[in-house]
Amino acid sequence: MLEDIRQISNPFVRAITSGFFLSTLVTIPASAAIFLVNLKNESTYKFIVYASMVSATVGAVGGLATGKNKSKASKSYEIESSATDWKDWRKFVVDRKVKESDSITSFYLRPLDEGILPSFIPGQFLTIQLEIPDQPKPIIRTYSLSDYIESSPYYRLSIKREPTPADTIAPPGVASNFMHDRIHESSIISVKPPAGKFVLDVNSSQPAVLISNGVGITPMISMAKAVSLLNPTRHIWFLHGSRDGSLHAFRDEVNAIAARNPNLHIVYCYSRPNLTDDGNYQHKGYVDVDLIKNVVAPEMQKLTGSTIADYFLCGSPAFMDSLRDGLRNWGVSDNKVLFESFAKAKSKKSEQAQDLTKENDSIEIVFSKSGKTLDWNPSEGTILEFAEANDIYPDHSCRIGVCGTCMCKISEGEVDYEEAPSASVDSGSVLICISKPKTARVVLDI
Ligand SMILES: Cc1cc2nc3c(=O)[nH]c(=O)nc-3n(C[C@H](O)[C@H](O)[C@H](O)COP(=O)(O)OP(=O)(O)OC[C@H]3O[C@@H](n4cnc5c(N)ncnc54)[C@H](O)[C@@H]3O)c2cc1C
Repeated sequence: MLEDIRQISNPFVRAITSGFFLSTLVTIPASAAIFLVNLKNESTYKFIVYASMVSATVGAVGGLATGKNKSKASKSYEIESSATDWKDWRKFVVDRKVKESDSITSFYLRPLDEGILPSFIPGQFLTIQLEIPDQPKPIIRTYSLSDYIESSPYYRLSIKREPTPADTIAPPGVASNFMHDRIHESSIISVKPPAGKFVLDVNSSQPAVLISNGVGITPMISMAKAVSLLNPTRHIWFLHGSRDGSLHAFRDEVNAIAARNPNLHIVYCYSRPNLTDDGNYQHKGYVDVDLIKNVVAPEMQKLTGSTIADYFLCGSPAFMDSLRDGLRNWGVSDNKVLFESFAKAKSKKSEQAQDLTKENDSIEIVFSKSGKTLDWNPSEGTILEFAEANDIYPDHSCRIGVCGTCMCKISEGEVDYEEAPSASVDSGSVLICISKPKTARVVLDI
């Protein structure tokens, strides 16, 4: 009944209903009792009238107060449910835009609906959607969360401006340049909730080695901050490679965390330092396995009594390939090495596919929503590349099976993955950015 009264939003109606309810509750049993014991005198009648008035007043006041509590309760419920229900695009306002280095700028995003932000696991990313003029459809990209603060009112993304690759006439990166040039404080962008499996278990006591170069530093800051905040006795080595100080984002921020946390050990490597960089880096050259063997491992042995650690890699594809191979050759098992790539490296498999002739392995792909049935052969790459080459533009972002944006339903046939998807794939669906047809006919809901 109390719950029912709380449902009444008008405070006067709620007060009257509640007063009437309590007064009835007191008056009827009292009258019945008096009738039964036959106490029919003037003071008994007066008592019933007073009891009825007092209970009506108490009920009315209670009804009003209940309403106040309800308002608060429902507001917090709405806020929490708006955050819990967040599955698709949600609008965020750019609260601050901060230049971090010559090429990286941070964007602090707060939800337009002012609801709470779900927490995330350090290492996860956000998927954003940008309406960019002259682009045929919204551009979707993924960016790692680059900060970690408990109960933070914002998420931070830190984005590197992608220039035209050297020796090409290709256009510069669409989303990153748009973010740098056209997104400012108070701009609004659409964002999907934190996701990703490149995550660090903050509670583990195992030493961790965070290894990055360039903009690959972003998830590492989040990991280093989370551990320093929540599990500061854990030893973390923070290895970062940059060409020089002008491109080294977040140096002061990471140094400040290390100044507060003696168990965060920093090693910066500059491959071509400037004269002004003196004192800002520990090693000249690249972050490589020799550095881990000769610098990190002895220190780790001394401090923790072991050299067993969890390794986290994020950086350019060549950098990660060389570190993964180096760690494996040094005897680190693959399950101790977690990595995230921001861009697609040309796989050996697709290079081989380029050599196959068009006549071989002709396979039919039906793009049912687009109404196109097309012949595919291995030289035409992934299903996403093939679709784009035929003027079909499915949603996608990472092109490496990490973000899940390109997931679509498959109603006939099977696909082969170039590499195991990192994103979760729903049953009856496939990721087209890293897959090719396996059967003679594949029907996709695109
Ligand atoms: C999980 C994940 C997390 C990420 N986190 C971050 C992060 O924290 N910070 C960050 O900066 N990035 C991050 N990225 C990368 C980011 O998602 C984008 O890929 C990146 O910003 C480039 O997008 P863009 O639209 O600017 O470039 P695109 O337009 O996608 O172009 C990419 C590159 O290809 C070149 N190019 C364009 N067209 C051609 C062509 N025809 N031929 C040859 N080259 C061409 C462009 O010049 C550019 O250099 C992350 C990626 C993933 C998958």
